[in-house]
Amino acid sequence: MTSSNSPFTIERRMNELRFRTVTLAGREQLAPDYVRVRLEGEDLAGFDSPGADDHMRLFFPAEIPDTVEELRASPSREYTPLSWGEDWLEVEFAVHGDEGVAAPWAANAPLGARIGIGGPRGSAVLTGTPGSWLLVGDETAIPAIRRFAAQIGDAPARIVIEVRGAEGEIPIDAPVPVEWLHRGDAPSGSALIAFVESLGTADAVGEHPFVFIAAEQSIVKPGRALLERWGVDTAHAVVKGYWKRGEAEYHAPH
Ligand SMILES: Cc1cc2nc3c(=O)[nH]c(=O)nc-3n(C[C@H](O)[C@H](O)[C@H](O)COP(=O)(O)OP(=O)(O)OC[C@H]3O[C@@H](n4cnc5c(N)ncnc54)[C@H](O)[C@@H]3O)c2cc1C
Repeated sequence: MTSSNSPFTIERRMNELRFRTVTLAGREQLAPDYVRVRLEGEDLAGFDSPGADDHMRLFFPAEIPDTVEELRASPSREYTPLSWGEDWLEVEFAVHGDEGVAAPWAANAPLGARIGIGGPRGSAVLTGTPGSWLLVGDETAIPAIRRFAAQIGDAPARIVIEVRGAEGEIPIDAPVPVEWLHRGDAPSGSALIAFVESLGTADAVGEHPFVFIAAEQSIVKPGRALLERWGVDTAHAVVKGYWKRGEAEYHAPH
């Protein structure tokens, strides 16, 4: 499981940084606390997101300003492009309550509301074919997991997602059934941490795994410990805090 004979690599690419404005054109409630929104606009021509766990920055100004500098000064949060075309883009949001900027906007903004988009500035592109897959995350990682799941093919894989309860389980197109963990009223990430810590060397999904683990920041330490136990090079894995309890606008270290 070392990098030298790995059947895949993760290539870092820089993309042209562009800022766009888009209009909220549709909203689909996939679960009580989870929405998919459709954004539309001519600015989206040429939009691309080569990496499955790419993030773009969504900007939430009171009104769309005249200059990019003003747009960039407005509150912003990081989200994963899910799917897109010449003039549309779909994004999924975990709606975690009334706190914050992005989640309340996704839940409540009127159709026709306008926001800004910057990026994705850089991409990590998985090239080649992993021998096996472990995809682990909470609600915020579902869009990236959807995109990775589309690349699995017939390789051995496990997809493990933590949600509050059965009402949070949503259809995910994947070649293996998703294993849903319910945290109930326990803190976000606790069920995932217990799962990740329970995986020993004998539980490896297969040879040459690609490991993706993203959730509340406290998943990072047990996630890295798992890589060590499995002997997975960090260059063949993504272990990331997608948000941090009690901290607004958390910036994950890159
Ligand atoms: C690379 C990357 C990609 C991401 N992609 C997505 C995505 O596609 N979809 C998505 O939903 N999220 C995604 N996130 C997570 C998202 O950026 C954060 O959840 C963000 O903080 C939400 O902004 P907000 O304005 O709603 O809340 P904030 O103003 O940032 O936070 C307000 C309060 O809410 C808490 N909070 C924030 N997020 C959550 C949560 N999920 N559950 C419970 N409490 C929370 C904070 O700790 C804080 O106390 C991604 C993050 C990263 C780093």
